[in-house]
Amino acid sequence: MKVMLLLLLCAVTSVGAHERELRTRADAFATASFASPRQHPWPFPLLSIGHSMQSYQDYGGSPYWHDGLDIRSTMDQPIFAAAGGVVVNIENYVIGNPLYWEVAIRDDEGFVWKYHHVDRGTIPEDIKDALKTGKRIPPGALIGNVVRWGVTTFGERYHHLHLQVVAKDGLYVNPFLLLEPLADTKPPVISRIGLHQNHRPLESSEVRGAHGLYVEASDLTLHDKFILPPYKISYRINQGEERLLWEFINLPGGTSDTLYINDFYLDGTCGNYQCRKFYFNLTFTKETPRGKLSLPPGQHTVDVTVEDFAGNRTSASFRWRVL
Ligand SMILES: [Zn+2]
Repeated sequence: MKVMLLLLLCAVTSVGAHERELRTRADAFATASFASPRQHPWPFPLLSIGHSMQSYQDYGGSPYWHDGLDIRSTMDQPIFAAAGGVVVNIENYVIGNPLYWEVAIRDDEGFVWKYHHVDRGTIPEDIKDALKTGKRIPPGALIGNVVRWGVTTFGERYHHLHLQVVAKDGLYVNPFLLLEPLADTKPPVISRIGLHQNHRPLESSEVRGAHGLYVEASDLTLHDKFILPPYKISYRINQGEERLLWEFINLPGGTSDTLYINDFYLDGTCGNYQCRKFYFNLTFTKETPRGKLSLPPGQHTVDVTVEDFAGNRTSASFRWRVL
């Protein structure tokens, strides 16, 4: 007999963005490998966030963490340095492809801001000179325009700045931590919670033997279609201790933009121009990336909470039976 998925969406809660923000940041900095940095203005008035650092990306068989923010813009948008500092690189990092030019600036706190998809022909002479002379550039300096992006995705042209921030120790840092807060009041959405075996979601809410749990969840930042993975995911099994799956201050792989991507996300996850769907493996840990639960026969419950960077939260529960 086919057992239908039993999903109990319990009291969905959303907490005021402003109220949560300070707590989230304080928590973040307490566990990060750097002291609280300043918040900088955005490089331009953005349309929306296209991808966040934790976005799953797979454009052809080799998945990776997006590792930076896609800051969506109108065509030919000028980019202004969010933080001043020293120009440390100007490079065609995909050689021969004019879409992939980087201007990198190391700020006074040691963070390297990598601005990707800069239109080479618009990089001002004083920025090129600053790379040679080491002369400091001020915050707000023009560093070039966003290159014209040919792709239309989910009905919209995808002109964007890909912004990465790298700390002194090589760690990818969530750029949201260094930028002024956005007016985001929309909480993330939990679509499903369920069981997984063989690294795939199961339809059933009954299971035999070792198994894992997953949540399918998404978030939006200033947009209605470009779904993003939530910033923070936590859960409690059988009303036990709350476990943090991950908070994206940085990536589980630290300095790697591929490590653990296929463990953290289950098979069936997608992230490209046509498809965005995120199945999070709740039973992931860095110590046991594909760890399983071994629970006694009977009924069990899990309560899952997902949160965006602004502190908007959603919770839901799932009940299953171990045979
Ligand atoms: Zn990008």
